[in-house]
Amino acid sequence: MSDVEKHEGGCACGEVRYKTSAYPTHTAVCHCRYCQLRTGSAFGVSVYFERNAVEKLSGKLQKFEYETESGNKVCTEFCVICGTTVYWYAEAFHGTVGIGGGTFDPPSFWYDIKREVFCRSKAPFSENAINDKYQTSPIYNQVKVDPYRQSGSG
Ligand SMILES: [Zn+2]
Ligand SMILES: [Zn+2]
Repeated sequence: MSDVEKHEGGCACGEVRYKTSAYPTHTAVCHCRYCQLRTGSAFGVSVYFERNAVEKLSGKLQKFEYETESGNKVCTEFCVICGTTVYWYAEAFHGTVGIGGGTFDPPSFWYDIKREVFCRSKAPFSENAINDKYQTSPIYNQVKVDPYRQSGSG
């Protein structure tokens, strides 16, 4: 870990590009239903930065906002051409921007993952060596019930 970590990344089609200039504030593998729906895969990889450490270089993003089971708003931003979710802003992590961990240029997974959250909806084939595991998350506080297919959206 150096004081000035610099990385670049972007979406699948290459129109959206960004650069980061710090080490992440926090990182997680997330098995919540929303991350599964957002990615079409088993889990999301969340890499959060202070907002001033992330700069968009190119491309056009579309927003999608939703509210988690804990009543926190999340706004994702995805490429208008290829649909890759590149960024998100979570009310619960004020002042930061989340970046989809798989969107960094290779070597994409240069950061450590600190915790694993929403293991209650984890795919049975997904195993890893992350020690800090949660059935939901440390900030989870359910205030609403989502429809069955989305249930467990954090
Ligand atoms: Zn794209
Ligand atoms: Zn999630």
